[in-house]
Amino acid sequence: MSAHLMGEIVASDLKEILGGLGCEVRFEEYLSAHTTFQVGGPADALALPKDEGELLELLERCRLGGLPVTVLGGGANTLVRDGGVRGVVISLARGFRSLTLREETKDRALMEAGAGVKIPALVRFAVEGGWEGVECLTGVPGTVGGALAMNAGTADRFIGDAVESARWIRFSEGGVERLPSEDIRFGYRSALFPEPGLVSSVVFRLARGDKDQLRAFMQKDARARRERQPWGLPCAGSIFRNPPGGRAGLIIEALGLKGHRAGGAEVSRVHGNFIVNRGGATASDVISLIDEVKREVRRRNGANLVLELQVIGEDLP
Ligand SMILES: Cc1cc2nc3c(=O)[nH]c(=O)nc-3n(C[C@H](O)[C@H](O)[C@H](O)COP(=O)(O)OP(=O)(O)OC[C@H]3O[C@@H](n4cnc5c(N)ncnc54)[C@H](O)[C@@H]3O)c2cc1C
Repeated sequence: MSAHLMGEIVASDLKEILGGLGCEVRFEEYLSAHTTFQVGGPADALALPKDEGELLELLERCRLGGLPVTVLGGGANTLVRDGGVRGVVISLARGFRSLTLREETKDRALMEAGAGVKIPALVRFAVEGGWEGVECLTGVPGTVGGALAMNAGTADRFIGDAVESARWIRFSEGGVERLPSEDIRFGYRSALFPEPGLVSSVVFRLARGDKDQLRAFMQKDARARRERQPWGLPCAGSIFRNPPGGRAGLIIEALGLKGHRAGGAEVSRVHGNFIVNRGGATASDVISLIDEVKREVRRRNGANLVLELQVIGEDLP
């Protein structure tokens, strides 16, 4: 690979800085393969640590080498721009999969989940044990780390409601600490940490529930999602946050914007707040469509839609 400039660091230096690490590192890895939108350019380096030891070693190298770090979970709420991401993208989705129950009493339990645990596996584990607390995440794709960072959930119940604490690593120091939920500021589709860092595992508070009722809730939710969300097409969940007192999807639908297209990107015909990749969409197609929807909603409805989607990386030069 020819050395190319990425800010102050050239690609050959990047290989040297990251050489000999315990964890798998892929250079020039296309992130379209790591996001549910299936869109996006390459990361200079994608690092896939399997455990905390590998992660801490990697972060130390990035810190010493002055490399910018971006965290990616399951890529279910992320759009990567076509020019890709400079520096190191860290994905915990290949490791950090442990899922255990502890301090279990008749009525309560704590469940610890690695940041790379897939949300459907988390929900199934709790529900099959007859525990309630995380069933509001039924049908939400992605990982525990990403869901926590997004405070994922439904319109009125969020993952943050069930969090006891998170195991957290500051980028600035690299030490591991346990953050009680009071130290994480959960908001609507957001979680603010004391400073930039990443979560390696989360402890949830669960209460004894009725397994049959929980299963019935999950089935009902799955049916509703099949009816009201695009099925089988690459997408990244809700594009916009709901404005106060309104639903972004309904506003977009009322303005007749469902089905609008830019290149391979289309406002879903099923749900106005989803954009789907109809095949060959670029990030620039998605961003053009987002801009058009925002403009039309502002002009005709007055609402100022704000992105829920996380957009990372650079445009093509
Ligand atoms: C079909 C579909 C339906 C969806 N339905 C819902 C829904 O009902 N409710 C809902 O809330 N969301 C929904 N989403 C959005 C998405 O599933 C959630 O936001 C999800 O939890 C994101 O998890 P992820 O691991 O994919 O995060 P990513 O998209 O990979 O990352 C999201 C953010 O989290 C950060 N992050 C990731 N891992 C970590 C970590 N370990 N530590 C710190 N930060 C981290 C990233 O840096 C990024 O800022 C849906 C998405 C799709 C595709």
